[in-house]
Amino acid sequence: QTLEDTLLAAIRTIPDYPKQGILFRDITTLLGNARAFRRAVDELVHPYAGTKIDKIAGIEARGFILGGAIAHQLSAGFIPIRKKGKLPHDTVRVAYSLEYGIDEMEMHKDAVAPGEKVILVDDLIATGGTAEGAVKLLRQMGAEIVSACFVIDLPDLGGRAKLEALGVDVRTLISYE
Ligand code: 5GP
Repeated sequence: QTLEDTLLAAIRTIPDYPKQGILFRDITTLLGNARAFRRAVDELVHPYAGTKIDKIAGIEARGFILGGAIAHQLSAGFIPIRKKGKLPHDTVRVAYSLEYGIDEMEMHKDAVAPGEKVILVDDLIATGGTAEGAVKLLRQMGAEIVSACFVIDLPDLGGRAKLEALGVDVRTLISYE
């Protein structure tokens, strides 16, 4: 079975969640499937074997699960990028666009040092608004973003193109048209 088939079979699609007309790609079934979870993490890690990566930045909340596993495999540190108000120490904050309206996300100011090599991780990229916000935070603190990695791409929503326009290398494992 190809990697793509394994992942597609492990991801569950929920119609009309969180609202009417949306097809939600539910990765909890992938996380609960030992083989699929391992294969996804292995594939995301593979290009960086032997490369010095300082930190993995994971986007709340599903990016924490994948990012933690990737950080362990690469012997890198982990940076949580969170919804506003959740982090206890001094933060940098950025507004990012949601489908309807905006929200804010934060990272600790001392989470990354200038010049550190960072990989950004989340489960899925749609419009790219969330990942773009994370890129801004990391760059504001001087991080070098080696790549942004996602299990799922929804290419019709343009997120990959948006990040690539910012000069970010984007890697995704599967896509849904
Ligand atoms: P974007 O900002 O790229 O439009 O949306 C991506 C963010 O929303 C990610 O943090 C992702 O976890 C979440 N998201 C949006 N749609 C889905 C979906 O269908 N499935 C999952 N698992 N996450 C989604």
